[in-house]
Amino acid sequence: MTTLSTTLAKRLEDPRLFRQYAYVNGKWTHGESGREEAVTDPATGEALGHIPLLEAEQITAAVDAAEAAFVHWRALRADERCERLLAWYDLIQANREDLATLMTLEQGKPLPDSRGEVQYGASFVRWFAEEGKRTYGETIPSPIPNASLGTIKEPVGIAALITPWNFPLAMITRKAAAALAAGCPVIVKPANETPFSALALAELAERAGIPEGIFNVVLGDPPEVSKILCAEPRIRALSFTGSTRVGRILMEQSAPTVKRLALELGGDAPFIVGPDMDPKEAALAAVAAKFQTAGQDCLAADRILVHESLHDEFVEHFAERMAALTVGNGLESEIDLGPLIHGQAVEKAAGIVDDAISKGATLVAGDQSQAPGANYFMPVLLTGITRDMRLWQEESFAPIAGITPYADDDEVIDLANDTEYGLAAYIYTHDIRRIWKLLRALEFGMVSVNSVKMTGPPVPFGGVKQSGLGREGGTCGIDEYLETKYYCLGAL
Ligand code: NAD
Repeated sequence: MTTLSTTLAKRLEDPRLFRQYAYVNGKWTHGESGREEAVTDPATGEALGHIPLLEAEQITAAVDAAEAAFVHWRALRADERCERLLAWYDLIQANREDLATLMTLEQGKPLPDSRGEVQYGASFVRWFAEEGKRTYGETIPSPIPNASLGTIKEPVGIAALITPWNFPLAMITRKAAAALAAGCPVIVKPANETPFSALALAELAERAGIPEGIFNVVLGDPPEVSKILCAEPRIRALSFTGSTRVGRILMEQSAPTVKRLALELGGDAPFIVGPDMDPKEAALAAVAAKFQTAGQDCLAADRILVHESLHDEFVEHFAERMAALTVGNGLESEIDLGPLIHGQAVEKAAGIVDDAISKGATLVAGDQSQAPGANYFMPVLLTGITRDMRLWQEESFAPIAGITPYADDDEVIDLANDTEYGLAAYIYTHDIRRIWKLLRALEFGMVSVNSVKMTGPPVPFGGVKQSGLGREGGTCGIDEYLETKYYCLGAL
């Protein structure tokens, strides 16, 4: 058994929230072959602990456990499931500080952002606890003589949830709370970079009285585990948040068992600044929309499109605000940007900046010699971004801002839609006719006007095009885990 790292031991009020095992059928489980993987703090490179890599039979055992537990969980009344979920919500809130500390240690984001994510993640548990009581069916006027027609909603079955490292807690609760409220057991496969948030959630689920086999966390080699989960016919739904690249693989692997799929994939959000805007107000908003989670955010403002009449002033204000951002270890106070998740992310970011400069972009600000450590990337501002550059075409997932001028509404619509992604878009303008025209023309699942914040439990989160399928949150988020059964009662 590996020992609790000294950093974690010193920092957690409740060290039992730090688990280095998988969680299957209500039991903390080590790998059968002894294979392990280290989990490191991206800020320091220090090993925080280890996770076991489970064998194929152990993943199948999690499915067996979920199958057995499903019978009882689906038979509970919705208000009984609601009580368990509310107990889980209370425990997440009560342990917010420890959960935030674990998250900052494994993910790197500043502690206030981690606290915000715990709060955000918990809010989905409360929302879906209540939504589970409103999974209404319908009564259908009958065209068949003497018959009564209608629908009832039933849980789809076991759900596999595969989640990313950038939001290690909220991406789990946004899925799991909906599934559990609908009556489905879940098998969570978190990112190997950030497993400890998932395991702490499992510990709290157990304390909340969520029965064994209902909330499982499996760990292992990601392609190996995902292949087993996708091929498993007893798993009826797969909900994935991550890159479009991996989303495509999982979609293909799920085809033979025809699973219900929810895919929350990449984004490459345009941030449109209209000619009527105050350039300073718009620049401050754009900085906030770009640098959250050090740019490792599917909602990050990746393509900043500024009307040519205010381009230069906007760039000045953006650069001034960006210069005030602090970069450092997320455990320290007054930090705006933590490290990137690992060295490959830093290499990728540097490659994207070099590519843009080699194709004619201007480097306005961003000096990597100031980076406080190996996994850090200082914020970069580039102007003159064109469609042939990687920064335009790819999701950088790094603190690199690129600005492109445009002449009129038609041009900006064409620029904004020039992407395989369609997750979120931002519009900054007070011109109501322009707002409506852009809102209708933008090919994105979510459009936010004059607001950086756009998400929360009551809203449908999701994208179009290659940003994915399905919606999480809102009144429709639970539908991903429900089947509609139609009935026809003939003359009785
Ligand atoms: P990723 O696709 O590399 O990994 C996501 C999950 O898939 C992880 O659990 C990982 O272990 C697993 N995985 C990785 N390679 C795999 C493979 N070959 N086969 C099967 N599983 C595999 O994504 P990431 O780097 O963890 O996260 C960043 C991506 O997630 C970005 O593209 C971002 O836009 C996206 N994201 C989307 C949303 C959304 O709601 N749309 C939210 C957050 C992040």
